[in-house]
Amino acid sequence: MDYSLVLRNGHVIDPSQGLHRVTDVAVQEGRIAAVGGALGPGLVERDLRGKYVCPGLIDLHGHWWEGSSWGIDPDICLNHGVTTVVDAGTTGFINFPAFRKTQVSAATVRVLAFVNISGIGIPTTLVGELEDIRFARPLETGRVIEGNRDLCVGVKLREGTMTGRHGKEALEKALEAASFPGLRLMVHITKGADTRHILGRLRPGDIVTHCFQGRGDGILAESDHHLLPEVVAARKNGVLFDVGHGAGAFSWDVARKAFEYFFYPDTISTDLHRFSIARWAFDMPSVMSKFLHMGMPLADVILKSTWAPALAIGRAGELGTLKPGAVADIFVFELEEGSFPLEDTHLRKESASRRIRPFLTIKDGRGIEPGSFPARLRELEECDQELFRFIEQTANPS
Ligand SMILES: [Zn+2]
Repeated sequence: MDYSLVLRNGHVIDPSQGLHRVTDVAVQEGRIAAVGGALGPGLVERDLRGKYVCPGLIDLHGHWWEGSSWGIDPDICLNHGVTTVVDAGTTGFINFPAFRKTQVSAATVRVLAFVNISGIGIPTTLVGELEDIRFARPLETGRVIEGNRDLCVGVKLREGTMTGRHGKEALEKALEAASFPGLRLMVHITKGADTRHILGRLRPGDIVTHCFQGRGDGILAESDHHLLPEVVAARKNGVLFDVGHGAGAFSWDVARKAFEYFFYPDTISTDLHRFSIARWAFDMPSVMSKFLHMGMPLADVILKSTWAPALAIGRAGELGTLKPGAVADIFVFELEEGSFPLEDTHLRKESASRRIRPFLTIKDGRGIEPGSFPARLRELEECDQELFRFIEQTANPS
C-alpha cells in the first residue's frame, strides 16, 4: 500500500529518538508511518534535500483568546511550523467555555490550555487579574479543568504587579486548583514576584515562565547577578524553566549569565500576544534563532521546542515526536545564513549569522505553506500604547 505522503532526503532531527541524519519520513492517515531509508512509494512525495525536518513545534506559552485584549488568532502559528499551541491562562473558569466554543474549536492548529486561577483570565493590560484576590477561585478552576481534560493541561498564575499584595495567597490557591493528578502549575515571574518563595513551593513538573526576563525578581540575585540557589534547587526538584519571550521577558544579559552557570531553558516559547507579535517575539523560529545565536546546538533548540514541551504537558505519547504512530505534525525548515537583526525586550539589538526559516508545516498529515494563514490582528487602541511606552521607559539599552 502506498503511503499518503513521503518526505525524502531531509535532514531529520528528532530528539525524542536521538535522530540526527538524512533520511525519509512516511505519513499515513494523519500519523507518522515510518522513518528510515528508501521508504515508499507515496501518493505525494516531496524531495527535501538541503532542508531540515523535525516534529511540529509546540509553543508552550502564548495567548490565543481574541476575547482578551492580549489574544490573537492561533492559526497564525501554522505559518511558522507550530502545530500545537498552549494558551497560558488567557481565560479563567468564567470565559474558558467561550474560548473553547468560539476559538479552540474553530482553529486548525491544535490548541491546549492552562486555565488561569483568576476566573476572568487575563482580559486587559489596564488592571491586574488578581489585584482583587476574590477572583482567585481554586474550586471553580479545578472543575472547569476536570470537565475539559482533553484540552486543559494545568493552571496558570501571573505573579508580579498583577497579583498586587496577594502573591502568596494567590500561589496557594493556584496550587490547590492544580492538585488534581497530572495537572501542572505554570507561574509567570515578573517584577514584584517573590521568586525565591515561589520556587520553594513548586512541585516537580510545575513550570516557571519568563525565566530570562531581566526586569527584576527573576532567577539572578539582584546584588551580583549570580544564579539564585533556589533556582538550582528547584531544577533539581524537577521544576521546569520556560522562556516565555513576550514583549517584556527576554534579556540577552540574563540568558548569557544563566548560560555561564550551564543553566539553559527547559522549554522555548514565544509568549506570543497582540503586543509581543508587533516587534519582539514574532514567531517560534525567531525565538529559537535567538538561542541558536547564543550558542545552543540546533538539536538542543529543537528538543526544547518539540519533545521537551510535549513531556512538560504530558502529551509525549503523540506530540513532539516523529515516532511511528504519533500524529503527523512536522516542521520543515532551512537554516538561512546572512546577517539578521534580533532584539531583546530591553531594546538591545544583536546581529545573528543564522536563522531558522520555515519551509513547510504539516499538521495531521496535511501540508501548509508558510504565509497561507495571514495574520488578522485587532487594531491597537490608544490605551494599548501604554504598554509600549512602559517598555520603552523601562528598557536599558547598552
Ligand atoms: Zn504570557
